[in-house]
Amino acid sequence: MFERFSLKNDLKESIGYYRDCASLFPHHRLADDALFALGSIFSDKLDDNNRAAKYFSDIVTRYPQGDMYSRAAEEMKKLSSAYDIALPQSMISETNHKKLTNVLPVKYWSSEDYSRVIIKASGPVTYSAQLLEKTGDAPRRLYIDFQNSYIEPLYRRPVPVSDGLLQQIRTGQNTQETVRVVLDIESISSYKIFSLPDPFRVVVDIRGVARRSTPSNSKSIKELLKPNINHEQIIIFKDQKKRSIVSSAKAGNTLDSGIPSGPELSLAQQLGLGVGKIVIDPGHGGKDPGAIANGLKEKDIVLKLAKRLAHNLEASLGCEVVLTRTKDVYLSLEERTAIANGNNADLFLSLHVNAHSQSSVHGLETYFLNLSNNPEAMRVAAYENATSELQMSDLQDVLAHIMKNSKINESSRLAHTVHTTLVRGLNNNDLALKDLGVKQAPFYVLIGAEMPAILLEAAFISNPLEAKKLSSDLFLDSFAVNISQGVKNYIESNSARLNLQALQ
Ligand SMILES: [Zn+2]
Repeated sequence: MFERFSLKNDLKESIGYYRDCASLFPHHRLADDALFALGSIFSDKLDDNNRAAKYFSDIVTRYPQGDMYSRAAEEMKKLSSAYDIALPQSMISETNHKKLTNVLPVKYWSSEDYSRVIIKASGPVTYSAQLLEKTGDAPRRLYIDFQNSYIEPLYRRPVPVSDGLLQQIRTGQNTQETVRVVLDIESISSYKIFSLPDPFRVVVDIRGVARRSTPSNSKSIKELLKPNINHEQIIIFKDQKKRSIVSSAKAGNTLDSGIPSGPELSLAQQLGLGVGKIVIDPGHGGKDPGAIANGLKEKDIVLKLAKRLAHNLEASLGCEVVLTRTKDVYLSLEERTAIANGNNADLFLSLHVNAHSQSSVHGLETYFLNLSNNPEAMRVAAYENATSELQMSDLQDVLAHIMKNSKINESSRLAHTVHTTLVRGLNNNDLALKDLGVKQAPFYVLIGAEMPAILLEAAFISNPLEAKKLSSDLFLDSFAVNISQGVKNYIESNSARLNLQALQ
């Protein structure tokens, strides 16, 4: 009747009859035919593909021996690849998914203008990504397809995010051998995708434009990312300051024109420093103790040091400091970088303590992110990355292409300035450490950091003399004061450089 006269009521009535047939007589030989008719009506006449998929997958699941099975399975495959609808489990287990790599639940950190998404898998996977434009009501989407992969039905629920840049994350078995992760995105200005080995994971970094550009942008990410620090001192000049320096430099004026002055201003402001926020990352924590030796744990030492350093930086630079952790809790390496990016930090300092199988080895070294052919540096990076040295050589290839936009030169300058200041300062205080120099290596925690970033290996916990130093408050205090002085020197040399540029 509907096909003849196109009256909606006729269509409704037929749906009613088919439903009755399938539910009242589930064992009748026409029950699956009725379900197929329902599926066809919803997909062809009503354009409701999700409902249609429900009926087709009902046939696949409940009537695998029936005559409608292969047609229904065919329809499901079409819907699945066109509309990202999950296949019924029986269809997936049909293909021997033991051969497939398991994609694990997606994790994310999101703020209003930055998101990091991590997708882990049971082994290395070939993946490809595509960015889709906004269509109709659908937002922009970035999707990543994992080849020869399988995802447990349990993990196929969409994850609503909505507070930040990301609206939601959808994961599904797109075809029998492809898992698709779709990110619905509020806005996107750039993105970066790379993978890290052991365990294999794909990292997606997305930058977008905040909907509301309030100065308290960082608040929401703070809550989301739980950096759980509550420092009262908030810097006032943060963004404005940076802009005024840049704009006056561009205009060829002296810097003075852009810099506010007055008795309320902090020393940092009067000096025209362009650093408003620093993220300090005490390494390890919780279930990950880091290096252990001489009755000490790396995670405890670096946390103590980080708290002292935060205090010092706030006091001497008047800037805001965020700690990635303030307690003995576990954080993944990717999360630490996400906290720095999500907070739009100007500098990122990761604090660690070194260890060596030979207890005589001692000294202080400072790292920045880069490729390396120094075996000792690679050994340290492998340890801090919690991965094998073998995996590290594969990583070099991955790194080569994601390093392009990282701040290598700035990070190198920061590393050298902090390191030199620290070595000199400790000497003056009679707490001297052997100078092992500034080195470069691929540390996971520094990968993707959008600001100058360094990693300090403070001293060797495995060396009895240095272990003794590391457990003394006097040493930790002096260490913190000198790092802080190093950061200040770095910032001042930056200002001097900007000044020069402005005058030229
Ligand atoms: Zn460490």
